[in-house]
Amino acid sequence: MSNKVLEILKKESFTREEIIRLLSVQTEVEKNLIFEKAAEVREKHIGKTIALRGLIEYSNTCSKNCLYCGIRSGNPLVSRYCLNEEEVLSCSKYAYDQNYGSVVIQSGERSDKHFVNSIDNLIRRIKKLSNGELGITLSCGEQTEETYRRWFESGAHRYLLRIESSNEELYYRIHPQDVNHDFNKRLLALNHLKSAGYQVGSGVMVGLPFQTDENLADDLLFLQKIDVDMVGMGPYIEHPETPLYNFRNEIPEPKTRFEKTLLMIAIIRIMMKNINIAASTAMDTLDKEGRIKAIIAGANVLMPNITPIKYRENYLIYKDKPFIIEADELLVRFKSSPLLKDFEIIQGKWGDSPHFKNKSV
Ligand code: SAH
Repeated sequence: MSNKVLEILKKESFTREEIIRLLSVQTEVEKNLIFEKAAEVREKHIGKTIALRGLIEYSNTCSKNCLYCGIRSGNPLVSRYCLNEEEVLSCSKYAYDQNYGSVVIQSGERSDKHFVNSIDNLIRRIKKLSNGELGITLSCGEQTEETYRRWFESGAHRYLLRIESSNEELYYRIHPQDVNHDFNKRLLALNHLKSAGYQVGSGVMVGLPFQTDENLADDLLFLQKIDVDMVGMGPYIEHPETPLYNFRNEIPEPKTRFEKTLLMIAIIRIMMKNINIAASTAMDTLDKEGRIKAIIAGANVLMPNITPIKYRENYLIYKDKPFIIEADELLVRFKSSPLLKDFEIIQGKWGDSPHFKNKSV
């Protein structure tokens, strides 16, 4: 078959034009060529495995006012919470007992002393409770270099900080233009995380208003250029209590956004081979088998939500977030899915990014 897509997929690395071409495929045949290539790369460099992290949504209090996010500081309808230490520890104990291997602490962004100390203390206590066995990923936004270093020394070893969009102009269309939402500060934070020693994850939202395939191709090249160890990408989903909701008629249909995200996952898998890629929860909002399909497309990390149920309705960063599903129920769904029958869910390991390990030797 003489096919442009097939020709591109044979190359060692992709140009911007080639990525744009891959992102714009229309036929099922062409899409499948990309998914098959991603599956091949994944099997070779990662294996048919899924690593777990128990996701703890620590607090929805946020000092930022991102125009897309439901828990933005400017949303007065959110009832704000912060888990206490015992609650976080009991979630972590659950993850440990269930042999997940790792937890993620995610939070609205705060950088006051109390917050920084609390996270530090939690890291130490989770390490202690699990005899150093539980891996800890943080997703607590932009912090000073000193804070990042301190948390790393206390035992956190992976950090997720999405750039949201690597195009500065688009970034400022989805964030307020002020010092608290500075594009260059976010880039600098990614640098600081790297030099502090973390496995660093980043990513973008797919299907934002004003976003083009050119932007998405640049996002993938950006992730490659900064040499991330992990990627978290998900579809943008509008939230009625945010300013970006006004542009809801200008975003692609849910199905298109979903499929574009799958393509983004597959293409970054082909481009970066041995990184960790998360199957984001938002995929399930657009397709009932969303996260399973993300795994098939090339993702290898699943983050079951283990936040105490009573808080979950307050961490609705987007509309129709599937917040009720229990972690064990999600895992049953994964284990019994015919689509995943050859896949193994890894137990009791940190599930680090092979990309990072290869760099360090
Ligand atoms: N404060 C942390 C964690 C933020 S929540 C930080 O800044 O990293 C985690 C992710 O949710 C964000 O990085 C963003 O990409 C995603 N998110 C927020 N609002 C969203 C929306 N409306 N649709 C889809 N994803 C959204």
